[in-house]
Amino acid sequence: MHAAKPEPAQPFLPFARPTIDETMVAALADTLRSLWITSGPQVLAFERALSEYHDGRPARVFSSATGALEVALLTIGVGPGDEVIMPAQTFFSCANAIARTGARPVFVDVDPATRNMDLSAAAAAITARTRALMPTHFAGLPLDMDALYALARARGLRVIEDAALAIGSRWKGRRIGSFGDIASFSFHPNKNITTIEGGALVFADEAEARRAEQYRFHGIARLPDGTRDVVVLGGKYNLPDVNARLGLLQLARLEEFIARRRHLVARYFGRLQTDPPCELPARGDDGHSWNFFAPLLPLDRLAWTRKQVMDALAARGIGTGVSYEAVHLTTQYRALGHREGDFPHAERIARETLTLPLFPTMQDADVDRVCDALRAVLHEARG
Ligand SMILES: *Cc1c(COP(=O)(O)O)cnc(C)c1O
Repeated sequence: MHAAKPEPAQPFLPFARPTIDETMVAALADTLRSLWITSGPQVLAFERALSEYHDGRPARVFSSATGALEVALLTIGVGPGDEVIMPAQTFFSCANAIARTGARPVFVDVDPATRNMDLSAAAAAITARTRALMPTHFAGLPLDMDALYALARARGLRVIEDAALAIGSRWKGRRIGSFGDIASFSFHPNKNITTIEGGALVFADEAEARRAEQYRFHGIARLPDGTRDVVVLGGKYNLPDVNARLGLLQLARLEEFIARRRHLVARYFGRLQTDPPCELPARGDDGHSWNFFAPLLPLDRLAWTRKQVMDALAARGIGTGVSYEAVHLTTQYRALGHREGDFPHAERIARETLTLPLFPTMQDADVDRVCDALRAVLHEARG
């Protein structure tokens, strides 16, 4: 008798992967050959395209969204003695950007269904020192923008929307960033479009965009006599032209990328059945751009840890991620006095979340493979 023929090894499926086509590769080579490689004409063209995409609002690009958030805070005058309210369940860079200005990040819990900042908790956290609200559109699902801006207006607060995961997302048909106060986008390779590294701010006000430009580049202002002055404590956060050229071509494909993400997520919703069941993310409406898809694992009913589940999936060639750890429980922010139990929803999501593969070049059969693998692994993990 013959032994069963071993299955051919399947290629490794990462949880995120950028889409880079040959047109993009050729355009980058062209930009290099032009010898104008740092910020120049491509940056201006990318900023014009981003502005057009957001209903004509002023846009400025940066070397990362983390840098963009820091510049946004400095631009609106946040500094020592101020407080900025943000969710406890988001990426670390939000808290770091606030703290690096000398202000204090004030964490609040998230809504367990949407995983977005709980706006009643945010309202309760406002003090005389609060300057701004800095919520994240989690995984690309927009916050309730009516409620967010009603709160900000009622309490006289600025809003910096961390839209790192949400370029192309819509609220009641309008693109995130095309209305509201300041929106910050990321072009890291795991996001909806990429410039390798990079980010952008979209403003309501051109004068504020010009101030942000100064913080972006050494605090420099040009004088009529052709020399330069330093007028604010700026940094160096400009985006090179090579990256901006890629951004232009990526932006041209964004709607197509998002359509593909939505299609793949619909397939996950149709096929991801496990025993015990996972808690699936909120579906939102068709304004969700689905930067990532992260069910919560039924760890209470498993004999295995999340790490064991991740390792078992990796052994089957499937990459997974954790989006995200609870920010207030990191060493840096425990030092503000935080501990377990402060924000129960954020902590439960941080404990149970598992980011599954999702990117535009993924095939339908890849979704089926992930669903089958997770079903088998969780069956085994019941112990
Ligand atoms: C990726 C990310 C950022 C930071 O973006 P970078 O461009 O990597 O600096 C900020 N917030 C959230 C929610 C993110 O996912």
